[in-house]
Amino acid sequence: MPPKFSLEMHEATIFANCLDSQKRTSPCEAACPAGMPIQKMNTLIKENRMEEALQFIRSRNPLSSITGRVCSHPCETGCNRNEFDQGLSIRALERYPSDHADRTALSRPRKKEATGKKVAVIGSGPAGMTCAYFSALLGNEVTVFEASPFLGGMPRIGIPDFRLPKHVVDREIGQILGLGIEARTNTAVGRDVSLESLLSQYDACLIAAGAWKERTLDLPGGDMALSGFSFLKEANLGRRENPGKRVVIIGGGGVAFDCAFTAKRLGAEEVHVICVEGPSAMCAPQDDIVQAKEEGIAIHHSSAASRIVGRQSRATGVEFSGISDFHFDDCGKLIVDPGSNPKKTLKADAVIFAVGVEPDLSQIDPQNRIRTTARKTIEVHPITMATSLDRVFAAGDVVTGPSTVAQAVGGGRFAAVAINNRLMGLGQDQGIRIVVNDQGKPAFRENRGTAGQHVVKYEEMMNLDSFEKKKRPETVRLPLPKSITCLDEIDKGLRPEDAMAEAERCFHCGHCQLCGNCVEDCPGYVLAMTDNGPKVVYPEECWHCGNCRISCPSAAVSYEFPISMLV
Ligand code: SF4
Ligand code: SF4
Repeated sequence: MPPKFSLEMHEATIFANCLDSQKRTSPCEAACPAGMPIQKMNTLIKENRMEEALQFIRSRNPLSSITGRVCSHPCETGCNRNEFDQGLSIRALERYPSDHADRTALSRPRKKEATGKKVAVIGSGPAGMTCAYFSALLGNEVTVFEASPFLGGMPRIGIPDFRLPKHVVDREIGQILGLGIEARTNTAVGRDVSLESLLSQYDACLIAAGAWKERTLDLPGGDMALSGFSFLKEANLGRRENPGKRVVIIGGGGVAFDCAFTAKRLGAEEVHVICVEGPSAMCAPQDDIVQAKEEGIAIHHSSAASRIVGRQSRATGVEFSGISDFHFDDCGKLIVDPGSNPKKTLKADAVIFAVGVEPDLSQIDPQNRIRTTARKTIEVHPITMATSLDRVFAAGDVVTGPSTVAQAVGGGRFAAVAINNRLMGLGQDQGIRIVVNDQGKPAFRENRGTAGQHVVKYEEMMNLDSFEKKKRPETVRLPLPKSITCLDEIDKGLRPEDAMAEAERCFHCGHCQLCGNCVEDCPGYVLAMTDNGPKVVYPEECWHCGNCRISCPSAAVSYEFPISMLV
């Protein structure tokens, strides 16, 4: 078979795997849980076409200002450029058009004609709001039910301002609501309205209530510790004062480090984090570990607390020791092998537990009709996102357990299409392909198959001669010590010139960039270049020499060798 060319995407679609013309892709796109069109975004940023870049981004992720700040960026870990010089700064690139595109010049996606169907979304976090966004685009009437007074879930309430300012969350939520979505705050399902009554008024219901129930540690004196989420929430709402000179946080995830950074900014002079993980296996993102070192936060690795010391119901210290090993059981409970290490005591004016969260369905489903797992997450069908209760679907942390915003965005997008399929009476294999065209109007076509894409590895990139080695740029950051004396956002993002230069470093792994090398290097003149990429014009003349594949800087060419060449 003559070569096949995997092309850059030219339409903003909500599923990549619908594209027959894109059989190959990059490790960054394969690793992004939100399904971001990273390569197209890089192309448009490089050309300073920020509004179009944002339009493509929003065809997959309506919360890119949030993920562009707080995502743990698995895309960057997978980037092929890591093997060449340094991986691309993809998260910062995603943030750039999200912050700098002229949103007034952005054509608002037009909704599909009304389906007459009504969808209730429980929870206004990333999964719920993403599902609401895509459900509304699909023509459904959507109402979001939120128990708290604020829309936005964990990013709005639990992530500190110095990482994610509230106005950024509010802007994204505002754009989603602009599609005509109704939001009812201070309305807890199970307290103010029952699930049954929602099911009697709506055609489908998505549970995206997140994971808010804090786990605690069964330690002597544990009742004197503060809860991590409450601490962050109170601080976020401006209701928490200096917790004291010395603060000890127990836990090793992102929430523990957010508590540590917040305590510093509220005036704590000495902050310690005690965690069971060793330095190479931390749950918290690497960025947090680096920041902790910069801010002088002491991390006690491979250690566990055994007692909270206190006086008159106030914590005054933590007794802890090094451990031999730890694991989590099937229910997600931490099991520690303490070994025989000597005990030490840290003095503290406040002790904070940040040892994880889990979903809590006791209010939404008091009769336990929705099947859950040992980890208390909701069991869903992996394709239909349906729970064991008819017309009830679930997505986000309530399904995956505590996870990233990007994961919740991906789940919410998937749920919107799955719910729509169910409401429209489509089978599981009849996914809808949604195209947002140049004018920002969604068009709809039937899915034409979802064959998996090949993920291009660095070893497959055979012609990188046109790329120079270049460092990735630093983002602008609030300098120390100013950054720890206020709650201002620390990371200000990329400078304009750096954003465009950084986007230019992308190899575009697996997507043709129309360079024409293949056409030039084909000895049999089998190929011709068109506006839509290279075309095989004389297929019978191709003798599978591989020149086009070798010369392609993006490894966008694939072959199926004829059987006669393989035997
Ligand atoms: S959402 Fe996260 S994983 Fe996806 S492109 Fe953005 S930073 Fe990368
Ligand atoms: S070089 Fe570009 S396309 Fe390739 S993995 Fe990195 S960001 Fe993705």
